Amino acid sequence: MILSEYRGNTMFNLTGKTAVITGASRGIGKAIAMKFAKQGANIAFLHIFDAENAAQTEKELAELGVKVKGYECDVSDFNGTKAAIEQIIEDFGEIHILVNNAGIIRDGLMLSMKEEDFDKVINVNLKGTFNMTKGVYQHFMKKRRGRIINIASVVGINGNAGQSNYASAKAGIIGMTKSVAKELASRGVTVNAIAPGFIATDMTASMPEKAREAAIAAIPMKKAGQVEDIANTALFLASDEAAYITGEVIKVDGGMAM
Ligand code: NAP
Repeated sequence: MILSEYRGNTMFNLTGKTAVITGASRGIGKAIAMKFAKQGANIAFLHIFDAENAAQTEKELAELGVKVKGYECDVSDFNGTKAAIEQIIEDFGEIHILVNNAGIIRDGLMLSMKEEDFDKVINVNLKGTFNMTKGVYQHFMKKRRGRIINIASVVGINGNAGQSNYASAKAGIIGMTKSVAKELASRGVTVNAIAPGFIATDMTASMPEKAREAAIAAIPMKKAGQVEDIANTALFLASDEAAYITGEVIKVDGGMAM
Protein backbone atom coordinates (compact mmCIF):
# COMPACT_ATOMS: atom_id res chain seq x y z
CA MET A 1 0.00 0.00 0.00
CA ILE A 2 1.38 3.43 -0.87
CA LEU A 3 1.53 6.02 1.90
CA SER A 4 -1.11 8.35 0.38
CA GLU A 5 -3.59 5.47 0.35
CA TYR A 6 -2.78 4.75 3.97
CA ARG A 7 -3.31 8.40 4.99
CA GLY A 8 -6.75 8.46 3.42
CA ASN A 9 -7.58 5.02 4.80
CA THR A 10 -11.19 4.07 5.06
CA MET A 11 -10.91 1.55 7.87
CA PHE A 12 -14.06 0.99 9.89
CA ASN A 13 -16.13 2.63 7.17
CA LEU A 14 -19.87 2.00 7.54
CA THR A 15 -21.07 4.13 4.63
CA GLY A 16 -24.31 2.80 3.13
CA LYS A 17 -25.00 0.48 6.04
CA THR A 18 -27.98 0.70 8.36
CA ALA A 19 -27.51 0.04 12.05
CA VAL A 20 -30.34 -0.65 14.47
CA ILE A 21 -29.36 0.26 18.02
CA THR A 22 -31.60 -0.30 21.03
CA GLY A 23 -31.50 2.14 23.94
CA ALA A 24 -29.69 4.85 22.00
CA SER A 25 -31.44 7.89 23.44
CA ARG A 26 -28.55 8.26 25.92
CA GLY A 27 -25.53 6.59 27.48
CA ILE A 28 -23.59 3.83 25.73
CA GLY A 29 -26.23 3.34 23.02
CA LYS A 30 -26.12 6.99 22.01
CA ALA A 31 -22.30 6.93 21.87
CA ILE A 32 -22.44 3.87 19.60
CA ALA A 33 -25.01 5.58 17.36
CA MET A 34 -22.88 8.73 17.10
CA LYS A 35 -19.72 6.72 16.40
CA PHE A 36 -21.41 4.64 13.69
CA ALA A 37 -22.98 7.73 12.11
CA LYS A 38 -19.58 9.47 12.00
CA GLN A 39 -18.41 6.45 10.01
CA GLY A 40 -21.31 6.91 7.57
CA ALA A 41 -23.96 4.51 8.88
CA ASN A 42 -27.67 5.32 8.77
CA ILE A 43 -29.18 4.89 12.21
CA ALA A 44 -32.52 3.47 13.38
CA PHE A 45 -32.68 3.52 17.14
CA LEU A 46 -35.11 2.31 19.78
CA HIS A 47 -35.91 4.05 23.02
CA ILE A 48 -38.75 3.80 25.48
CA PHE A 49 -39.43 6.54 28.03
CA ASP A 50 -37.42 9.63 27.35
CA ALA A 51 -38.91 11.34 24.29
CA GLU A 52 -36.93 14.54 24.89
CA ASN A 53 -33.54 12.75 24.93
CA ALA A 54 -34.60 10.70 21.91
CA ALA A 55 -35.48 13.84 19.93
CA GLN A 56 -32.11 15.38 20.88
CA THR A 57 -30.26 12.21 19.79
CA GLU A 58 -32.16 12.19 16.50
CA LYS A 59 -31.19 15.85 15.90
CA GLU A 60 -27.49 15.28 16.72
CA LEU A 61 -27.34 12.23 14.45
CA ALA A 62 -29.10 14.02 11.57
CA GLU A 63 -26.51 16.82 11.83
CA LEU A 64 -23.90 14.22 10.84
CA GLY A 65 -25.63 13.94 7.46
CA VAL A 66 -26.92 10.38 7.74
CA LYS A 67 -30.48 9.08 7.64
CA VAL A 68 -31.82 8.65 11.16
CA LYS A 69 -35.08 7.75 12.86
CA GLY A 70 -36.00 6.97 16.47
CA TYR A 71 -38.69 4.40 17.27
CA GLU A 72 -40.50 4.28 20.60
CA CYS A 73 -40.55 0.57 21.38
CA ASP A 74 -40.15 -1.57 24.47
CA VAL A 75 -37.57 -4.24 23.61
CA SER A 76 -39.26 -6.69 25.99
CA ASP A 77 -42.45 -6.61 23.86
CA PHE A 78 -42.16 -9.42 21.31
CA ASN A 79 -44.85 -8.19 18.91
CA GLY A 80 -43.75 -4.58 19.33
CA THR A 81 -40.14 -5.35 18.34
CA LYS A 82 -41.32 -7.44 15.38
CA ALA A 83 -43.42 -4.51 14.15
CA ALA A 84 -40.57 -2.04 14.76
CA ILE A 85 -38.10 -4.13 12.75
CA GLU A 86 -40.59 -4.50 9.88
CA GLN A 87 -41.11 -0.73 9.94
CA ILE A 88 -37.33 -0.10 9.96
CA ILE A 89 -36.85 -2.38 6.94
CA GLU A 90 -39.65 -0.47 5.17
CA ASP A 91 -38.13 2.90 6.10
CA PHE A 92 -34.45 2.09 5.47
CA GLY A 93 -34.60 -0.71 2.88
CA GLU A 94 -32.47 -3.14 4.83
CA ILE A 95 -30.60 -3.68 8.09
CA HIS A 96 -26.88 -4.54 8.24
CA ILE A 97 -26.03 -4.20 11.94
CA LEU A 98 -28.00 -4.82 15.13
CA VAL A 99 -26.70 -3.59 18.48
CA ASN A 100 -28.64 -4.97 21.46
CA ASN A 101 -27.79 -2.32 24.03
CA ALA A 102 -31.00 -1.48 25.92
CA GLY A 103 -30.69 -2.53 29.53
CA ILE A 104 -31.87 -1.77 33.05
CA ILE A 105 -30.88 -2.62 36.60
CA ARG A 106 -33.09 -3.32 39.63
CA ASP A 107 -30.45 -4.12 42.25
CA GLY A 108 -30.91 -5.84 45.60
CA LEU A 109 -29.73 -8.88 47.50
CA MET A 110 -31.67 -12.00 46.56
CA LEU A 111 -33.00 -12.08 50.12
CA SER A 112 -35.05 -8.96 49.44
CA MET A 113 -35.35 -9.08 45.62
CA LYS A 114 -38.94 -8.94 44.47
CA GLU A 115 -40.12 -11.35 41.79
CA GLU A 116 -41.11 -8.38 39.60
CA ASP A 117 -37.54 -6.97 39.80
CA PHE A 118 -36.14 -10.29 38.64
CA ASP A 119 -38.68 -10.61 35.81
CA LYS A 120 -38.29 -7.00 34.64
CA VAL A 121 -34.49 -7.21 34.36
CA ILE A 122 -34.63 -10.55 32.54
CA ASN A 123 -37.38 -9.30 30.22
CA VAL A 124 -35.64 -6.11 29.15
CA ASN A 125 -32.02 -7.29 29.04
CA LEU A 126 -32.25 -10.93 27.99
CA LYS A 127 -35.64 -11.34 26.33
CA GLY A 128 -35.17 -7.98 24.64
CA THR A 129 -31.98 -9.32 23.06
CA PHE A 130 -33.86 -12.46 21.98
CA ASN A 131 -36.75 -10.42 20.52
CA MET A 132 -34.53 -8.14 18.47
CA THR A 133 -32.21 -10.94 17.32
CA LYS A 134 -35.17 -13.06 16.25
CA GLY A 135 -36.55 -10.03 14.44
CA VAL A 136 -33.48 -9.68 12.16
CA TYR A 137 -32.54 -13.38 12.02
CA GLN A 138 -34.23 -14.31 8.73
CA HIS A 139 -33.43 -10.96 7.16
CA PHE A 140 -29.72 -11.51 7.85
CA MET A 141 -29.89 -15.19 6.82
CA LYS A 142 -31.46 -14.35 3.46
CA LYS A 143 -28.92 -11.60 2.76
CA ARG A 144 -26.12 -13.91 3.90
CA ARG A 145 -24.51 -11.16 5.94
CA GLY A 146 -25.07 -9.17 9.10
CA ARG A 147 -23.56 -8.10 12.39
CA ILE A 148 -25.07 -8.60 15.81
CA ILE A 149 -23.38 -6.94 18.77
CA ASN A 150 -24.78 -7.64 22.22
CA ILE A 151 -23.93 -5.44 25.17
CA ALA A 152 -23.42 -7.81 28.09
CA SER A 153 -21.42 -6.95 31.24
CA VAL A 154 -18.47 -8.20 33.25
CA VAL A 155 -21.14 -8.94 35.89
CA GLY A 156 -22.40 -11.68 33.56
CA ILE A 157 -18.92 -13.25 33.73
CA ASN A 158 -17.93 -12.75 37.37
CA GLY A 159 -21.31 -12.23 39.11
CA ASN A 160 -21.94 -9.43 41.59
CA ALA A 161 -23.61 -9.38 45.00
CA GLY A 162 -26.88 -7.48 44.73
CA GLN A 163 -27.22 -8.10 41.01
CA SER A 164 -28.34 -11.74 40.70
CA ASN A 165 -31.10 -10.70 38.26
CA TYR A 166 -28.78 -8.56 36.12
CA ALA A 167 -25.91 -11.09 36.23
CA SER A 168 -28.32 -13.85 35.13
CA ALA A 169 -29.54 -11.73 32.22
CA LYS A 170 -26.02 -10.78 31.13
CA ALA A 171 -24.69 -14.35 31.47
CA GLY A 172 -27.70 -15.42 29.42
CA ILE A 173 -26.79 -12.88 26.75
CA ILE A 174 -23.29 -14.34 26.56
CA GLY A 175 -24.73 -17.85 26.12
CA MET A 176 -27.16 -16.55 23.49
CA THR A 177 -24.34 -14.74 21.67
CA LYS A 178 -22.28 -17.93 21.33
CA SER A 179 -25.30 -20.07 20.36
CA VAL A 180 -26.56 -17.72 17.66
CA ALA A 181 -22.97 -17.20 16.45
CA LYS A 182 -22.78 -20.96 15.85
CA GLU A 183 -26.18 -20.99 14.12
CA LEU A 184 -25.36 -18.14 11.74
CA ALA A 185 -21.61 -18.46 11.14
CA SER A 186 -21.99 -20.29 7.84
CA ARG A 187 -24.44 -17.58 6.66
CA GLY A 188 -21.86 -14.82 6.90
CA VAL A 189 -23.41 -13.33 10.05
CA THR A 190 -21.18 -12.58 13.03
CA VAL A 191 -22.51 -12.39 16.58
CA ASN A 192 -20.32 -10.99 19.35
CA ALA A 193 -20.70 -9.48 22.79
CA ILE A 194 -19.03 -6.62 24.59
CA ALA A 195 -18.74 -6.89 28.36
CA PRO A 196 -18.31 -3.38 29.76
CA GLY A 197 -16.97 -2.89 33.28
CA PHE A 198 -17.86 0.34 35.08
CA ILE A 199 -18.81 3.02 32.55
CA ALA A 200 -19.84 6.60 33.42
CA THR A 201 -23.55 6.82 32.41
CA ASP A 202 -26.93 7.51 34.07
CA MET A 203 -26.95 3.83 35.09
CA THR A 204 -23.81 4.08 37.23
CA ALA A 205 -24.65 7.64 38.35
CA SER A 206 -27.74 6.17 40.05
CA MET A 207 -25.53 4.05 42.35
CA PRO A 208 -24.96 5.20 45.96
CA GLU A 209 -21.78 7.33 46.22
CA LYS A 210 -19.97 4.76 48.43
CA ALA A 211 -20.73 1.87 46.08
CA ARG A 212 -19.50 3.95 43.13
CA GLU A 213 -16.24 4.79 44.91
CA ALA A 214 -15.71 1.14 45.86
CA ALA A 215 -16.34 0.02 42.28
CA ILE A 216 -13.78 2.47 40.88
CA ALA A 217 -11.22 1.53 43.57
CA ALA A 218 -11.50 -2.10 42.41
CA ILE A 219 -10.57 -1.24 38.82
CA PRO A 220 -6.84 -1.74 38.10
CA MET A 221 -6.88 1.43 35.93
CA LYS A 222 -8.52 3.31 38.86
CA LYS A 223 -11.02 5.17 36.72
CA ALA A 224 -14.44 4.68 35.18
CA GLY A 225 -14.63 3.85 31.49
CA GLN A 226 -16.18 6.32 29.06
CA VAL A 227 -19.02 5.57 26.66
CA GLU A 228 -16.59 6.08 23.76
CA ASP A 229 -14.53 3.10 25.01
CA ILE A 230 -17.53 0.87 24.34
CA ALA A 231 -18.45 2.64 21.10
CA ASN A 232 -14.93 2.11 19.70
CA THR A 233 -15.16 -1.62 20.34
CA ALA A 234 -18.65 -1.79 18.84
CA LEU A 235 -17.39 0.02 15.73
CA PHE A 236 -14.59 -2.50 15.35
CA LEU A 237 -17.02 -5.44 15.64
CA ALA A 238 -19.44 -3.83 13.16
CA SER A 239 -16.73 -3.13 10.61
CA ASP A 240 -15.44 -5.24 7.72
CA GLU A 241 -12.15 -5.45 9.62
CA ALA A 242 -13.77 -7.80 12.18
CA ALA A 243 -15.25 -10.15 9.54
CA TYR A 244 -13.56 -13.28 10.93
CA ILE A 245 -14.51 -12.73 14.58
CA THR A 246 -17.65 -14.41 15.90
CA GLY A 247 -18.92 -15.82 19.21
CA GLU A 248 -16.43 -13.61 21.05
CA VAL A 249 -16.93 -11.69 24.30
CA ILE A 250 -14.68 -8.64 24.55
CA LYS A 251 -14.24 -7.16 28.02
CA VAL A 252 -13.84 -3.37 28.05
CA ASP A 253 -13.28 -2.77 31.73
CA GLY A 254 -9.90 -1.24 32.61
CA GLY A 255 -8.80 -4.66 33.87
CA MET A 256 -11.72 -5.02 36.31
CA ALA A 257 -12.51 -8.67 35.48
CA MET A 258 -8.97 -9.99 34.89
P1 NAP B 1 -28.58 4.01 30.49
O1 NAP B 1 -27.77 5.26 30.44
O2 NAP B 1 -29.45 3.76 31.67
O3 NAP B 1 -29.43 3.94 29.14
C1 NAP B 1 -30.30 2.87 28.94
C2 NAP B 1 -30.91 2.97 27.57
O4 NAP B 1 -31.76 1.83 27.39
C3 NAP B 1 -31.79 4.19 27.39
O5 NAP B 1 -31.67 4.64 26.06
C4 NAP B 1 -33.20 3.65 27.63
O6 NAP B 1 -34.22 4.36 26.93
C5 NAP B 1 -33.06 2.27 27.03
N1 NAP B 1 -34.08 1.34 27.54
C6 NAP B 1 -34.28 0.95 28.82
N2 NAP B 1 -35.28 0.06 28.88
C7 NAP B 1 -35.73 -0.10 27.61
C8 NAP B 1 -36.74 -0.88 27.02
N3 NAP B 1 -37.53 -1.69 27.74
N4 NAP B 1 -36.91 -0.83 25.67
C9 NAP B 1 -36.14 -0.01 24.90
N5 NAP B 1 -35.14 0.76 25.41
C10 NAP B 1 -34.96 0.72 26.74
O7 NAP B 1 -27.66 2.72 30.40
P2 NAP B 1 -26.13 2.53 29.92
O8 NAP B 1 -25.26 2.63 31.12
O9 NAP B 1 -25.87 3.36 28.73
O10 NAP B 1 -26.18 0.98 29.55
C11 NAP B 1 -26.31 0.51 28.22
C12 NAP B 1 -26.06 -1.00 28.22
O11 NAP B 1 -24.76 -1.26 28.71
C13 NAP B 1 -27.04 -1.78 29.11
O12 NAP B 1 -27.34 -3.01 28.50
C14 NAP B 1 -26.22 -2.02 30.35
O13 NAP B 1 -26.66 -3.14 31.08
C15 NAP B 1 -24.84 -2.20 29.77
N6 NAP B 1 -23.75 -1.98 30.72
C16 NAP B 1 -23.56 -0.76 31.28
C17 NAP B 1 -22.52 -0.59 32.18
C18 NAP B 1 -22.22 0.73 32.84
O14 NAP B 1 -21.32 0.76 33.69
N7 NAP B 1 -22.92 1.81 32.51
C19 NAP B 1 -21.70 -1.69 32.52
C20 NAP B 1 -21.94 -2.92 31.93
C21 NAP B 1 -22.96 -3.05 31.02
P3 NAP B 1 -34.94 5.68 27.58
O15 NAP B 1 -33.94 6.79 27.53
O16 NAP B 1 -36.11 5.91 26.70
O17 NAP B 1 -35.29 5.30 29.00
